[in-house]
Amino acid sequence: MKPNSRNIVRHDGVITRTDRERLLGQRGCVVWFTGLSGSGKSTIASALEEHLVRQGRLVYVLDGDNVRHGLCADLGFSPEDRTENIRRVGHVAALLADTGTIVLAAFISPYREDRQAVRAAVGEKEFLEVFVNADLATCESRDPKGLYAKARAGEIPEFTGISAPYEAPESPALVLTTDKQDLSESTVSLQKLLEERGYLSPPGLES
Ligand code: ADP
Repeated sequence: MKPNSRNIVRHDGVITRTDRERLLGQRGCVVWFTGLSGSGKSTIASALEEHLVRQGRLVYVLDGDNVRHGLCADLGFSPEDRTENIRRVGHVAALLADTGTIVLAAFISPYREDRQAVRAAVGEKEFLEVFVNADLATCESRDPKGLYAKARAGEIPEFTGISAPYEAPESPALVLTTDKQDLSESTVSLQKLLEERGYLSPPGLES
């Protein structure tokens, strides 16, 4: 999206992203969890956050339900509003990653094109798409927030998986099949992915 004003010039500070990453001993990135409601995105992001913070990592969870109370309080669930929601949080995630933080973003983000736009905002290398995959029947039987019951009763229009589409990632960095693997297995796979990609080492010292 182009800025809606002509008189905007980027200001670059003296301190660089690499300086901040050296200070932290890690590299900023965005782990983007996408999947149906109830697939386990928030649960996994929160478990991974705890796991990494215990190792002394700077991590921040951006969660769908939380941003809709403030930053995106004006948005609903129409296709246009979902796209705008993901555009905003994608840019917040990119800014946080620029601080050197490992960002864990948990959003249904049903549209491939919207996730591609976030990838472009964050940077190809720093965006790790993780498909949190559980079939609809499993998500519906979990129904942690009682939303599927409401959607089936016709109380929630445009509910992903029931009355709105979900476009699964085509080549995610990782797939977590949460109806088969448990939470600790998911945490271990994610830690491994971050290590392999060099995000748990300072810049220049990637393994
Ligand atoms: P989402 O953020 O994708 O909407 P939540 O994390 O809020 O999903 O809810 C997922 C629910 O599924 C939680 O109640 C969680 O305890 C449960 N669950 C069961 N097995 C798993 C698993 N292997 N991984 C993640 N969550 C699981």
